[in-house]
Amino acid sequence: MTKQSFSFETQLLHNRHKIDPETGAVNVPIHLSSTFHQFAIDQFGKYDYSRSGNPTREALEDIIADLEEGTNGFAFASGMAAISTAFLLLSAGDHVIVSEDVYGGTYRMVTSVLTRFNIEHTFVDMTNIAAVEAAIQSNTKAIYIETPSNPLLKVTDIKTLSALAKQIGALTYVDNTFLTPALQKPLTLGADIVLHSATKFLSGHSDAIAGLAVVKDPNLAEQLGFLQNSFGAVLGVQDAWLVMRGIKTLHVRIQQSVKSAQQLAEWLEAQNLVKTVHYPGLVTHRDFQLQQEQASGAGAVLSFELVDEELLADFVQAVKLPVFAVSLGAVESILSYPAKMSHAAIPKDEREKRGITNSLLRLSVGLENPDDLIQDFSQAFEACTAQISTGASV
Ligand SMILES: *Cc1c(COP(=O)(O)O)cnc(C)c1O
Repeated sequence: MTKQSFSFETQLLHNRHKIDPETGAVNVPIHLSSTFHQFAIDQFGKYDYSRSGNPTREALEDIIADLEEGTNGFAFASGMAAISTAFLLLSAGDHVIVSEDVYGGTYRMVTSVLTRFNIEHTFVDMTNIAAVEAAIQSNTKAIYIETPSNPLLKVTDIKTLSALAKQIGALTYVDNTFLTPALQKPLTLGADIVLHSATKFLSGHSDAIAGLAVVKDPNLAEQLGFLQNSFGAVLGVQDAWLVMRGIKTLHVRIQQSVKSAQQLAEWLEAQNLVKTVHYPGLVTHRDFQLQQEQASGAGAVLSFELVDEELLADFVQAVKLPVFAVSLGAVESILSYPAKMSHAAIPKDEREKRGITNSLLRLSVGLENPDDLIQDFSQAFEACTAQISTGASV
């Protein structure tokens, strides 16, 4: 009975750590211990110090490794800690090609930190394979993909770019935060390193900050394990436990949120005050076909542009259900304003060049009844229309 003989939703519950071998507990114990007694002078146990290894954190690392169909998982204090540590696989003089509408924190790391260590970068629209090829240099050591991208939901062909990276001896990194292994498994498409902000869909309840990395190559696993211990940005055990609990319901949460996101995206497309909707589940989306091929769903995040930037403040003010906040991937819907929130680290002209305009809103669809969300958005659009007709706002 191998783990792969069960479907994904069953694997979420029945994994190597479903029962504590010491006590029979059906949840992984939280081992709040920084150090571990060694029982003999010449025979050290598996654990010695919790930065290097802790049984609670290790359970989460095993679970995510299995779900991503990798061999080794690593848990970090945040998504950025996971991403930054994975960048430490590169050395001075190396070059990395990065998705142009990458997460704001990753943009900051690449442009303001890696540059100080003489690691070069080129931002590329990764939906354009020829552009990626053109960006390759003799020192290109990594291709860093985020798909669907944030906040424009552009889809990158993981298989093609992983093959291209392999040809030039570069590593392929994929930030899989938006889809999770419930919908997309980059390692099975040829990627080398999968990264997660587990703060989002994996934990799913807006209650923890956490990051994960998964690899499938033993050599890479050893290097990343060494870096995790050296840099030391490990995940605390209580947060590791919260992420494990969140993961148990990942499948049902994602399924429901994807269904609702599809319904909302279709509805938004028909609204007069909406200029464009970005959602790879829409047949009108440029990358609809590719998304269907490499993932089993379009995810629960969409973005949309209002016809006029002037309407945005009134719309946001009038919306009642979603929280207006940064972050995504939670039980509650989250509406955010990329230009002033997640992507504020990107200078205005750069942002606009990438299509992240001041009239763009991003919505992470939660578990509310989608009809309630539609009703809420309807009344918010009506409030804007009222403003227009009285000339109060525009
Ligand atoms: C949130 C996020 C991150 C950063 O993760 P933190 O847990 O906030 O450090 C990285 N990538 C994507 C796509 C994200 O949404």
